[in-house]
Amino acid sequence: MRDLPPPLPSATAAEPIPDAARAEVERLLRTGDLFRYTSEDSPVALLEAEFAAMLGSRFALAVASCSAAIFLSLKALDLPEGGRVLLPAFTFAAVPSAVLHAGLTPVLVECGDDYRLDMDDFAAKLPGAAAVLISHMRGHTSDMDAILALAAAANLPVIEDAAHSLGTTWHGRPIGTLGRAGCFSFQSYKLLNAGEGGILVTDDAELVARAVLMSGAYEHNWKKHPVLAAPFARLQNTLPLYNTRLNNLSAALVRPQLAELPRRVRDGRRNHDRVAARLNAAPWFDVPAPLAPEVRAPDSIQFNLTGMDDAAAARFVTDATQGGVPVQIFGLSGDNARAFWNWRFLGEVPDLPRTAAMLRRACDVRLPARFTEGECDMVAEVLLAAAETARAAAA
Ligand SMILES: *Cc1c(COP(=O)(O)O)cnc(C)c1O
Repeated sequence: MRDLPPPLPSATAAEPIPDAARAEVERLLRTGDLFRYTSEDSPVALLEAEFAAMLGSRFALAVASCSAAIFLSLKALDLPEGGRVLLPAFTFAAVPSAVLHAGLTPVLVECGDDYRLDMDDFAAKLPGAAAVLISHMRGHTSDMDAILALAAAANLPVIEDAAHSLGTTWHGRPIGTLGRAGCFSFQSYKLLNAGEGGILVTDDAELVARAVLMSGAYEHNWKKHPVLAAPFARLQNTLPLYNTRLNNLSAALVRPQLAELPRRVRDGRRNHDRVAARLNAAPWFDVPAPLAPEVRAPDSIQFNLTGMDDAAAARFVTDATQGGVPVQIFGLSGDNARAFWNWRFLGEVPDLPRTAAMLRRACDVRLPARFTEGECDMVAEVLLAAAETARAAAA
């Protein structure tokens, strides 16, 4: 009998939190000093300074989630009530939700088979918009040169949802620093894991002052942010408080992970490119290539099934998952939070045939940086074998 290969490690388990976090968490637990505004140089304030420096941004504001960072960025832009915000139709349900929560109107823009914004549909929907919110979904970067040029010509601010794009660069510049503000997530499935949390970066002193106050810097707590004081004195008490701050424990968990980012990005890219090469060599997979200015930082792989109907695609998912590689097809798994037709809170489902067709064949497989090259080869083998059986069964 042939020896069975060892099972693959869980793809959803996160990396251990670095030991360096332990002493700081222990200190915080001993002192009970969990609120960011108890002291000037709290772990949250230090994280903001370190994160801003890492990305080369002037300011950072850490908050409870990336969704909260997107919400605050939009609120801080002070857009007209009900203004239209263009965003890719391929995103996570929390993103159009943040637009709604900010009192604005989400307008979904078609995405192509390469998971990126369809620039024709974007240009067609741009007139009359109030702002642009670009979700770099699963770290795939849309054509930011074209988006920024069209938005600038129409005098529209661009916010980047870079929740899952930390480490990606565009013409060598960090994603999240290209627009007016960039938003990142510390939820456990992202590159930096605090369980929950988010951060926004910007060079705009007015925007960050407004976001700081609305995040819950009541009274004179804004003095504990090393930002220009001028906008604060003017804005004090003029904005509502949404109280969506980050707590010190979360910041203490994230800070020692910053040093691990280059390794996580490097290994994640190695793993992705290794599996992508194997899949692209087979006729039934298509892994879209990055755009020329883009260097990706993936912790998962997305690919389209070609020449398979719904039944064959479903069979592929079952076989791969049984083989130890969990696969989801965004548009074929029930109630998927990334399929726009499930966002019934938006009202009538918009007609987006290109995005709908892509979502029905686009597969999602986690490929964490901690997987070895051997484990990545096993992932590729399982996917290739599952596709063979699915195609044979359908033939
Ligand atoms: C995870 C994610 C979010 C939401 O982040 P939270 O911190 O959970 O609010 C938003 N957009 C994208 C693209 C994401 O991947």
